Amino acid sequence: MSTRRRFLGVTGAALAGAAMAPLAQAQQTRPDDHNQPNEEQPGENNTALDAENPSSVWSPETDNGTVEPFKYSFGLAHKRIEDGGWTRQVTERELPISKTMAGVEMRLITGGVRELHWHTSAEWAFMTYGNARITAVDAEGRSFVNDVTVGDLWLFPGGIPHSIQGLGPDGAKFLLVFNDGSFNEFETFLLTDWFKHTPKEVLAKNFGVPGSTFDNVPKKELFIFAAEPPRPLAEEQKAAAEGTSGINGDFVFRASTMPPTKVRAGGEVRIVEKKNFPATDIAAAIVRLKPGGLRELHWHPLSDEWQYYVSGKGRMTVFQAGGKARTFDFQAGDVGYIKMSHPHYIENTGTEDLLFLEVFPTGTYQDISASEWLAHTPARLVNEHLKTGEEFLNKIPKKEAVVTPL
Ligand code: MN
Ligand code: MN
Repeated sequence: MSTRRRFLGVTGAALAGAAMAPLAQAQQTRPDDHNQPNEEQPGENNTALDAENPSSVWSPETDNGTVEPFKYSFGLAHKRIEDGGWTRQVTERELPISKTMAGVEMRLITGGVRELHWHTSAEWAFMTYGNARITAVDAEGRSFVNDVTVGDLWLFPGGIPHSIQGLGPDGAKFLLVFNDGSFNEFETFLLTDWFKHTPKEVLAKNFGVPGSTFDNVPKKELFIFAAEPPRPLAEEQKAAAEGTSGINGDFVFRASTMPPTKVRAGGEVRIVEKKNFPATDIAAAIVRLKPGGLRELHWHPLSDEWQYYVSGKGRMTVFQAGGKARTFDFQAGDVGYIKMSHPHYIENTGTEDLLFLEVFPTGTYQDISASEWLAHTPARLVNEHLKTGEEFLNKIPKKEAVVTPL
């Protein structure tokens, strides 16, 4: 009998036979199927929210104790809406556990410009919709101008000035990740804001032109604004590189055309790090899990992990030392966060592929999986702990799976 039916049976028996419902007993039972809605909850309920969070309505029996929340949804974040697009962010202000990374979602219409700006943290980006033109200039004055499309990513090192502009036919939507939890997209160094706060006579002296040149500098920052679409790429690349040179390939990575790092029956993973994308000091794994597929039990010894769920549905449990564990459900637009060396898994609980990003504030990707740990420890010793029998332990694949089933 399923635990769901057991739950209903217990309730029915309690109602029929006794005045007191056995509450403790009821709390220890839950539906087997974590995709089921929770019709057993009495009274008024937020059924839409509950349906998205079955692991919170009826947590797995393995969950325990107080675990700092590690999920936040971009759908709950304040959206700043401008003429050329909109943006919203999930930082440590929204998700206090996320101390080392923050994320931004941005939509730009065709021609919409995210103003020329920079910030102290590095910016890692992933295109989720449409097309965009990105520009930057490095410390040697070399110019970067390139176009990106869905599945591409870019990296602008900290302090490097850059811009993003939506292209046709319908602009762009993308995710930005920063290696600083307190990052604030609404408070970056903006070209217009800087010039507005520099005395006009200093601007005139700096550029050797009359002060009137700057009469039309906007009185208020532009941030995101509507503009005409850019000129042809080759034309803008050529003009911008004059006198120095173009580094038009350096800050962009075509993850959409990269062969997977690992392919398994349960899905595939692409790892983008300094080794294959030298500009980056932010490593990432792009993970696609088929229905039922599992990102295996593992942890990351080098840093915290910031996650973004692109599409599909999944659940993740994070185990914490001291017998604590918490499971959250995730779907498109959700952010997850795991502290350094805290073990976790991600399971596709939906009927479609689950696509999510693991992002790390380090240039190198590194993980340790439960199976590679156990496969390379004397089976005799592991068996003394887990009592599984040595036969099972000897059959664990010697190479890390990353995704299962194999
Ligand atoms: Mn930026
Ligand atoms: Mn991970």
